[in-house]
Amino acid sequence: MIIMKFGGTSVGSPQRIKSVIELINDEKPKIVVLSAMSGTTNALVKISELIYNKNQNQAEESIAELEAKYGQVINELYTSEEYRLKAKKSIGEHFDNLRQLNTEAFTGIEERIVLAQGELMSTAMTQLYAEEIGLCSTLLPALNFMRTDRNAEPDNYYIREQLRRELEKHPDCRLFITQGYICRNAFGEVDNLKRGGSDYSASLIGQACDAREIQIWTDIDGFHNNDPRVVENTQSIAALSFDEAAELAYFGAKILHPASVWPAQEAQIPVRLKNTMQPEAEGTLISAQVEDKGIKAIAAKDNITAIKIKSGRMLMAYGFLRKVFEIFESYCTPIDMITTSEIAVSLTIDDTSRLDKILYELRHYGTVETDKDMTIICLVGNNIMHHKDSIAKIFAALADVPIRMVSYGGSRHNISILTDMEHKSQALRQLSKYLF
Ligand code: ADP
Ligand code: ASP
Ligand code: MG
Repeated sequence: MIIMKFGGTSVGSPQRIKSVIELINDEKPKIVVLSAMSGTTNALVKISELIYNKNQNQAEESIAELEAKYGQVINELYTSEEYRLKAKKSIGEHFDNLRQLNTEAFTGIEERIVLAQGELMSTAMTQLYAEEIGLCSTLLPALNFMRTDRNAEPDNYYIREQLRRELEKHPDCRLFITQGYICRNAFGEVDNLKRGGSDYSASLIGQACDAREIQIWTDIDGFHNNDPRVVENTQSIAALSFDEAAELAYFGAKILHPASVWPAQEAQIPVRLKNTMQPEAEGTLISAQVEDKGIKAIAAKDNITAIKIKSGRMLMAYGFLRKVFEIFESYCTPIDMITTSEIAVSLTIDDTSRLDKILYELRHYGTVETDKDMTIICLVGNNIMHHKDSIAKIFAALADVPIRMVSYGGSRHNISILTDMEHKSQALRQLSKYLF
């Protein structure tokens, strides 16, 4: 079994859906994981905000606008009137559901139902198109097997068992199509794996069915050595280790959902990144294979908050850091970077939803300062510290960039640098210039 995940752009138009069908039409057993058509999830976020703010007229307008777009896609995608009618009926039901939501009591549950419609529609349309051209395929409802537990972590045992049951219902089928991103939570409610979560779905499904390979098909020819949205002339990387890819994804490389590498790594399933628009391009293979090539890639994670706790009580004392970390633990807030001196510790967080409470408690231990709107620039490559000239180049490249923190030696394959978001583009460009 292989898993093939196609992102929003890859199913973003009738032509693209047809290209996906060409790529998956080869008799080999596979589960195809689809995102919503590009732009749909953003439109659904906007619609749910309008409903939440009781802006009923505008919400209805936005729903009608999105429905008209889908009408056009249906007209172009299918050749027969029979299938156009089938698709209009099926997609129409999703829009009816949106219109019939209880707008008076619109809470998180209703919002998540709205957000789920994108993947439900893209898979319904693709399955119907496969049927129209006589391709034998089965639509697997992700809501029947993809589930998170009380900590909002994937419930691996449940996913494996339920997916097996779903697959066993169709012993003769080789091609399954399912939704990325959506799941049920521990209470059985419709939920999702956070924005960009279809990659994570693909990886979890791959792990659950012991897939031979997980393929992530997107709009670029694999993992690039820097953020192509910011830096010109970035290069695709042929191979990355699981650790390198996980670190880059976690630290902001948008091509992969931050958590999507770990399930594949745990199950030792290679992940191949491919370009739907250019299927012949080699792309990137992420596997357990480790190369020693110095710095391979750079990524950046925005909206980071740095916190500095300064205290004379830290001097030659033990137990101080434990107390500090316990505060973050009690507010379920992960720490990304840490640096310490004898009388101060600086650390960074990404999730600021409990920041006020954390700061209140930290003040019992010393003076506390925060810097918002920071960015972590993460440089990744196996055995990075053995490439001494790279370190010299990093600091030469960042000569004009104010550096707030540096983390070196935490792992063999990562150096992280904290600067403000204003200097991010300059830093990324300079680093590419000096290092690649
Ligand atoms: P999909 O909709 O297929 O999931 P995404 O937009 O989520 O696609 O991810 C692909 C995009 O990620 C690329 O178009 C590119 O702009 C961006 N990106 C950011 N960093 C990188 C990187 N290091 N390598 C490749 N693409 C990257
Ligand atoms: N459709 C979802 C999003 O836009 C999930 C995904 O594309 O991976 O975030
Ligand atoms: Mg994505």
